[in-house]
Amino acid sequence: MPAAIPFNKPYFSGLETKYIEEAVRAGKISGDGMFTKRCHAFFEQEMGFHKALLTTSCTDALEMAALLLDLQPGDEVIVPSYTFVSTANAFVLRGATIVFADSTALNPNLDAASLASLITPRTRAIVPVHYAGIACDMGNILALAEQHGLAVVEDAAQAIASYYQGRPLGTLGALGAFSFHETKNIISGEGGLLAINDPRYGPRAEIIREKGTNRSAFFRGEIDKYSWVDVGSSFLPSDIIAAYLWAQLENLTAIQARRLATWQRYAEALAPLRALGVALPHLPAYATNNGHAFHLVTRSLPERTALIAALSRQQILAVFHYQPLHRSPYFAARHDGRALPWAEHYADCLVRLPLYYELSEADQNRVIEAVLAFYKAY
Ligand SMILES: *Cc1c(COP(=O)(O)O)cnc(C)c1O
Repeated sequence: MPAAIPFNKPYFSGLETKYIEEAVRAGKISGDGMFTKRCHAFFEQEMGFHKALLTTSCTDALEMAALLLDLQPGDEVIVPSYTFVSTANAFVLRGATIVFADSTALNPNLDAASLASLITPRTRAIVPVHYAGIACDMGNILALAEQHGLAVVEDAAQAIASYYQGRPLGTLGALGAFSFHETKNIISGEGGLLAINDPRYGPRAEIIREKGTNRSAFFRGEIDKYSWVDVGSSFLPSDIIAAYLWAQLENLTAIQARRLATWQRYAEALAPLRALGVALPHLPAYATNNGHAFHLVTRSLPERTALIAALSRQQILAVFHYQPLHRSPYFAARHDGRALPWAEHYADCLVRLPLYYELSEADQNRVIEAVLAFYKAY
């Protein structure tokens, strides 16, 4: 039996532990130490965020965004149903009402054409999720948001160094949230980032991230003592986390190039499945690809179940993920009852293949051959 091929393997450059040791020896391992500052500067200078703030997760970055928008109970936030729990939960914590949007037929991203019908006088924000790092239809989303005076918060958890018409994802909305969870392209175990593109949110974001205090301004010497000035929580990561992240950022270009090459090999080798009606990832002309994930969309749930089982028999771990949030145990009774057929279709039929930096060509060929063999026999 050949060795198992996992679904994911966290990237490790080797310098992570060296930088962690440097952080420890520098004697300041709480938040906003030297590695955090380096990461902030990188994101602001290389990615063009007006202001970057590391957080302990993308979930935390989204919760900061919800606090920054000052949402009140009854305010409505439009979120795709086919996404991770945190995209919606961050706003539920503020008492907001979630209005779920469907995905498009071509990819799991939020269907911008359906948005106009979801906007009411109580709508405050739209939260597009760039699924697999592929941009949503931001032109139409931003235009509608502007027309109705709504904030756009990008869930860019999977979208590091990917672009919409040449503009980095996470810079298009007023706020953008990224994840450095070990399943993402650039990682720190757990970790995240809030990108602040509307400068009005900058000063308050620092306060919310520091337990509602103006400690950041105090450390910069702008004030002579710090106080409790607003609501907040503890959203900033230890400098140990930032040290790990810095080693990853130094290798960003190499990581993206390698993941993209692996993605391309899947796309080319599996393209013949399209003739059977199996869908491959769809990239609109306005979007780039950051090689975050490669998926197939099978024709039915039984077909997906059989495919995952066939791969598993050959020690290959392929996975499905999101259940549509409008049908989740927490939300089902709260949903307004609208059918969201594409979200349900992806929940039933989307399957992700192994894709990670160290995946060898030989192992990838094993995955490709197993998928093609399955469809020859199915
Ligand atoms: C991974 C992910 C999150 C959550 O990220 P954490 O850093 O684990 O909190 C949120 N949204 C999407 C779309 C994700 O893929």
